Amino acid sequence: MTATSRRTEPVERGAAKRRDSGGEAGPVRRSASHNFQEQTRSLTQADYGRRLRLQLTRREVNEVVKEATKEVWPNLNRVPFRLGSPTEFARQWSNLGIKVRLANLSGPEGLGLVGFYVKKIKGVIEHPMICVNIAHHPTLVGTAFAHEMGHHLTARMFGSRTEESRLLLRSDFELHLDEPKELVADILVSLGIYPAEKALRMFGNSDPQLSSDLKEMLCDPAYMRAFDYIADIYGLRIDGTRAGPQKVHCMAALAHYTKLRRALVDEYGI
Ligand SMILES: [Zn+2]
Repeated sequence: MTATSRRTEPVERGAAKRRDSGGEAGPVRRSASHNFQEQTRSLTQADYGRRLRLQLTRREVNEVVKEATKEVWPNLNRVPFRLGSPTEFARQWSNLGIKVRLANLSGPEGLGLVGFYVKKIKGVIEHPMICVNIAHHPTLVGTAFAHEMGHHLTARMFGSRTEESRLLLRSDFELHLDEPKELVADILVSLGIYPAEKALRMFGNSDPQLSSDLKEMLCDPAYMRAFDYIADIYGLRIDGTRAGPQKVHCMAALAHYTKLRRALVDEYGI
């Protein structure tokens, strides 16, 4: 299935259902739009470069990329991820021995959950499992699959006994900067959607500026180039002023992955 054909199906179905039932679409849409700048403020103000350096060295990042290239994404950081439909991910991931569960939690609280990963536990859990909330915008659903696969890879790579089931929550994105395992999973997503050639062209010739909010971030020419690219590749255009509930989550994720990608260029030239 092409990126275009699968783009908005689950989201539009959910929105239509809420409109039909006279439910939360109106008030939530206005509220989400009103709070959008506030909800993304800590994320846009965060110094991603400094926090990346505090958690991972260039060598560690390169090792993770090498392993991910070998195990799952042979073209990682060379060709942009194709964010297919949930069933397509389920088919691909199940070939790797992972059970995929799709949740559809479209209420205001349910949308707080993006996904989670549960590792295999001998005698208790037969197969590792990835669960993703498909009520989100399809682009966010696609990146959630990739993020959770990142956990699967790190659990295998590091043989971690402490890799717990983790919930990927929309409000967590900036907090991931302080947790190496979460950061590694997000780095794989960032490299997947912004391959090196594109990222170096977008961010390589400009100094990173800290933005006070998303509006200011959107005025930075480097980010403008990045978001134009995302619109071309994934059909997703940042527009905070008309954000519905799903879009708010998606924009927060996109701002996060984009800032992280820029930090990888600025700090490590990756
Ligand atoms: Zn995670």
